[in-house]
Amino acid sequence: MAGKSFNPFEMAQTQFDKVADMLNLDNGVRGLLRNTLREYHFSIPVHMDDGSVKVFRGFRVQHNDARGPGKGGIRFHPQETIDTVRALATWMTWKCAVVDIPLGGSKGGVICDPHNLSQREQEQICRGWVRQLSKNVGPINDVPAPDVMTNAQHMLWMLDEFETIQGSKYPGFITGKPVGMGGSLGRTEATGYGLIYTLREALKVLKIDPKDTSASVQGFGNVAQYAIRLYNEFGGKVLCVSCWDQNDQTAYTYLRAKGIDLDELLGITDRFGGIDKDKAKNLGYERLAAEAWLEQDVNILMPCALENQVTGENVHKISKKVKILAEGANGPTTPEADKFLDEKGVYVLPDFLANAGGVTCSYFEQVQSNMNYFWTKEEVLTHLDEKMTSAYHAVNDLSKKRKLYMRDAAYVIAISRVAQACKDRGWI
Ligand code: NAD
Repeated sequence: MAGKSFNPFEMAQTQFDKVADMLNLDNGVRGLLRNTLREYHFSIPVHMDDGSVKVFRGFRVQHNDARGPGKGGIRFHPQETIDTVRALATWMTWKCAVVDIPLGGSKGGVICDPHNLSQREQEQICRGWVRQLSKNVGPINDVPAPDVMTNAQHMLWMLDEFETIQGSKYPGFITGKPVGMGGSLGRTEATGYGLIYTLREALKVLKIDPKDTSASVQGFGNVAQYAIRLYNEFGGKVLCVSCWDQNDQTAYTYLRAKGIDLDELLGITDRFGGIDKDKAKNLGYERLAAEAWLEQDVNILMPCALENQVTGENVHKISKKVKILAEGANGPTTPEADKFLDEKGVYVLPDFLANAGGVTCSYFEQVQSNMNYFWTKEEVLTHLDEKMTSAYHAVNDLSKKRKLYMRDAAYVIAISRVAQACKDRGWI
């Protein structure tokens, strides 16, 4: 999350400004796209299990909806800030545009730590969030989804509250619902798998056999776990993962030189993606400092935790062996680090392209909900692979043609599409 001096929204604006200059965007377009359209800040009072009342701060930010209803997850995190939510909403706009799905960009959050909340207290936060926003979100204007520390159960509580308020059934109000309750097969896997579909294509372009590669992964939650699974299936070896330790309030890297065993590690991982450090030791994993994941002699780095992880201060520690940075997390790399990576020729799969599998599958969930007809997992993943592969090649082709850094190429495509939609609507 945002550290004291790090402002993710300023980072999103810096990235935007660079490409706005390249595209020679006029001031009207810039003014609209570098800011958010609408924001909601509110309080959620909750009767806690111990009888006290605690008030949580909640947010929803709608960055741009020129291409369709806003779409974006809801994050529960103790260090959530409005600027984090603004940045994430902005990146959602670019994400939906780069994979060319008819949705805009939104994001939500609540400042809370689910590690310390009972299921009942979390349910009250979910229902309170919807009560505050029921007039401002919905299937045809802004559709929420899960993100860090929220899951299908949270989505179902939110859906139930929305439908209770509206007095009708609205399965399209939210995505990431449980399968069998309007959810889509493949949604759990979608972000991690989507990341690896783009990585697979990048390796083809770079003429590298996945079997000859090794990777280091930051994070061991939803995105990381499925990314590792598919990467392993393609023959790649993951040497280490890092994750947050709630007891010690710090992150650790767990390394095993012969490669991690995904299923074995999953057996000692809690539902927040935290690994039991004593059990990991018994299984032969070396426990290293938080940042050690970045310093390993691997070919691929996959930041799949939070923003602001690859920075001007630590990017120099990356091994010369690293060929690809595949971003599963949103905003893991700062503009200072980008400059260094560009100069060193590291091939970057930028976040809003590489982790777009989640929102793409959420869009498929909406399509299925609207038809009230659900696809097989194979159908979902085939459509997902097609979308991710074609978006990746469009970005890579532009990057080659115009000699652009991959992040900039992705931005050129996304910003052009959103700017065109705003113009076509007569907004600017
Ligand atoms: P998650 O809550 O399932 O897992 C987060 C993981 O990061 C956990 O293993 C946690 O221990 C670890 N972590 C937290 N702080 C850390 C730190 N300081 N250092 C190392 N590890 C740390 O979350 P997720 O859904 O996997 O999301 C991860 C990232 O991917 C976020 O940036 C999120 O916005 C982004 N993302 C998620 C989705 C999705 O569908 N879940 C879609 C697009 C982007």
